[in-house]
Amino acid sequence: MLIKSSPDEIQSFLSDASYMRDGRAERVVIPESVEEVSDILASANLNRQPVTISGAGTGTVGGRVAFGGIVLATDRLNQIKNVTGQSATAEAGVTLSDFQQAVDREGLLYPPDPTERGCFLGGNVATNASGSRTFKYGPTRSYINWLKIVLADGDVLELRRGELRAEKGRIKVQLSSGKTIQTTLPTYQLPQTRKNASGYFVAPDMDVIDLFIGSEGTLGVVVEIEARLLPKPKGLLSGVVFFESEADVLAFVANARMRSLENRATKKVGLDARALEFFDSESLNFLRQKYPNVPETAVAAVFFEQETAPENEDSLMDEWMALLEDHKAMSNSWFATNEQDQAQLREFRHQLPVLMNEWFARYAQRKVSTDMAVPDEAFPGMFRIYQETLRASGLRYTIFGHIGDNHVHVNILPRNDEEGTRARELYVKFLRHAASVGGTLSAEHGVGKLKRDYLKLFYSEEQLHQMARLKLAFDPNGILGRGNIFDEKLI
Ligand SMILES: Cc1cc2nc3c(=O)[nH]c(=O)nc-3n(C[C@H](O)[C@H](O)[C@H](O)COP(=O)(O)OP(=O)(O)OC[C@H]3O[C@@H](n4cnc5c(N)ncnc54)[C@H](O)[C@@H]3O)c2cc1C
Repeated sequence: MLIKSSPDEIQSFLSDASYMRDGRAERVVIPESVEEVSDILASANLNRQPVTISGAGTGTVGGRVAFGGIVLATDRLNQIKNVTGQSATAEAGVTLSDFQQAVDREGLLYPPDPTERGCFLGGNVATNASGSRTFKYGPTRSYINWLKIVLADGDVLELRRGELRAEKGRIKVQLSSGKTIQTTLPTYQLPQTRKNASGYFVAPDMDVIDLFIGSEGTLGVVVEIEARLLPKPKGLLSGVVFFESEADVLAFVANARMRSLENRATKKVGLDARALEFFDSESLNFLRQKYPNVPETAVAAVFFEQETAPENEDSLMDEWMALLEDHKAMSNSWFATNEQDQAQLREFRHQLPVLMNEWFARYAQRKVSTDMAVPDEAFPGMFRIYQETLRASGLRYTIFGHIGDNHVHVNILPRNDEEGTRARELYVKFLRHAASVGGTLSAEHGVGKLKRDYLKLFYSEEQLHQMARLKLAFDPNGILGRGNIFDEKLI
């Protein structure tokens, strides 16, 4: 086990992509085995010492930013244990990119695909991360077969999907140490959105493994993960397609989305986007800094991916081209059919959040970045409110992301404190609207510390207390992930 305590050595563990400031910890401990994780937690629990779990620090909501106590960093739990035909097992500190490459070498696919691949698998489980492929494949939760978790008192819990379910809103977990945890689940209903990462996942007869997925470091340390894999598609067609009119791009997205969902539902081989990602005109302006070849007259773009096989690649290409032509996509759009070119298109997509993060760092402003998703029927209204409000505000902003899942990120980019205040007011306006139409505060990044105060707009005071009581059933001294999801005062 490594222990670091000098300010220089621990600084890099005290921040993440939220740019929250003033993180502090007595020391950072870096265990190399499950036994060491267990010993660290048992001792911290005895001393009632707060423990913040750290993954790769790519989180955007301050989840791994500690304000006191110790940081438990998972960097050295970084072994891929095996990759078999249908699953792979790895420790929590394996990066997503290493995991995906290992799986790919075996001709397999691990679908969850956050744009930032330097994150750790444990961080992905803790935030129920999603990405562009979630439109076809769902979030991380859908691919987790089994978890090994160390609880706050050092007990080790293994959960295999399908083996332990809640009964009528109550769960009973038998630990190998002989202890039993029994508790009642919160009574709220999950939003009817395609993605959700806002607070604990609960349902009356839920699989208990799902409680830990998306629990943001508040219920236990995920140390080992078995993930479900799929066969790797034989081919892939991808494109970044540009449009000169906003009406055209929105009609294109609506059509591509509808046809994909219909073909999927009826199992018809045909147009079936696995990713549909949107860039508005402000996003393209940002990207032009790095990509001067973005066409000058383009006001919007869509990144799409379509899986293919030798027997259907020509017909699928024809279908996409016809759809693009129908919606007046620009002829100088970019397409890729080999892995090298595809990686470049993905990098184009990845560069946008990177540029946003650089802005927030440069202007030393608190991040104002939305992560709401809304139900299908509410998306056009939500999108209109974003555009009209932002255009009238005079602030700089971008709208981009996972439009296939009714989930675009709005980044408002303040240059000074006055703009920062106005940006946060607009953010609250958007949140209120999302709450009023049954949306979710966070579709993929989680609540962390940055957004916990806003959870009140989506859950009642009593429901937040129910979440806190659930946490205390697993962590009676409230040492884990303090300040994440809900205020420490509730504990
Ligand atoms: C440029 C950029 C693009 C991004 N794009 C996406 C995207 O497309 N989709 C998406 O979902 N996210 C995206 N993210 C956010 C981020 O990558 C994810 O939230 C990721 O899952 C965080 O993983 P991490 O290892 O960096 O976790 P950290 O930031 O270190 O921690 C995140 C949270 O998980 C907890 N945690 C970490 N490891 C464990 C563990 N082993 N056990 C228990 N709790 C743990 C921490 O305490 C914290 O609360 C993006 C971030 C950036 C910077």
